[in-house]
Amino acid sequence: MMIVMKPSATEEQIQAVVTRIEDAGARAHLSRGDVMTVIGALGDREHVSRLGLEGAPGVEKLVPILKPYKLASSQLSGGAPSVLEIAGRKIGGDNFALIAGPCTVESRDQVLSTADVVNAAGATMFRGGAYKPRTSPYAFQGLGAEGLRLLQEAKERTGLPVVTELMDARDLPAVLEVADVIQIGARNMQNYSLLSEVGRSGCAVLIKRGLSSTLEELLMAAEYVLKEGNENVLLCERGIRTFETAYRFTLDLSAVIVAKRLSDLPVIVDPSHAAGRRDLVVPLSKAAVAAEADGLMVESHHEPQEALCDGEQALPVEALMGMKDTLQPFASAMGREVI
Ligand code: PEP
Ligand code: MN
Repeated sequence: MMIVMKPSATEEQIQAVVTRIEDAGARAHLSRGDVMTVIGALGDREHVSRLGLEGAPGVEKLVPILKPYKLASSQLSGGAPSVLEIAGRKIGGDNFALIAGPCTVESRDQVLSTADVVNAAGATMFRGGAYKPRTSPYAFQGLGAEGLRLLQEAKERTGLPVVTELMDARDLPAVLEVADVIQIGARNMQNYSLLSEVGRSGCAVLIKRGLSSTLEELLMAAEYVLKEGNENVLLCERGIRTFETAYRFTLDLSAVIVAKRLSDLPVIVDPSHAAGRRDLVVPLSKAAVAAEADGLMVESHHEPQEALCDGEQALPVEALMGMKDTLQPFASAMGREVI
């Protein structure tokens, strides 16, 4: 339920509403606008319906939040798109972010040379996985703690903020040492205890849409993080399962447009995993700009044919170097700047 306060509501009246919500066992979420304050009463339906705030002092009206996700809903925030500031980079709004790096941290030479190119290409952030969710338990699982150490070295060398995946809450303290954005992979999108834990950490989170997850399920995953008071959430469309086998997954561009209507959270597109083939990465990236995405996350490798994971979709570093110039005309048409 949204409690819209009158523009003339006093601080005491606002606090009285908050107390009433909390006393009823629900949670109050305050958004103070220039003209008026809106208070979200978040909790199960029973708690919220018992509030009886209609006509209370300073209350203008009550508006039900119709979606099951509340904090992730554009209804609660009043529809102003979020611009998140993460490690000094503004994500969303007029900015179009370019996050790039290898699928997996494989070696010092590989990670540092790719990081140098990502930096030279003018990217916003550097990505790379130390803990990898592999379909086969026999496949390379990532370098783990050593991979995090190499990411730290890449970060110190280039100054680029780091995006890296967390799969197991036990690794959270180590990942927090280096990550500016924690990636929750598609396969963990519905790992609710992991989402809550990352929410409590306060670190920015990029949540990848599950292989067969609906948008509502993605937004509910975001809600788990937001509920812990962590507002730095990025959504990521990375392709969904369809019957098509010509490419790895199907990039769901409608999802990008619709997610941005349902929610104010920035939406990042990952064309690399969606396509599974490097020849589609640039065309899909252009399409993502036109579909109102707030940024891209692309995989790149200094020797794609030698990559231990996802080599077929890795852009050679030379192609990454041209990415910003390739995308800027499309971004300009959308009133945005590739940062
Ligand atoms: C990745 O980003 O390397 C990755 C494993 O992605 P996803 O979870 O989308 O498959
Ligand atoms: Mn990958």
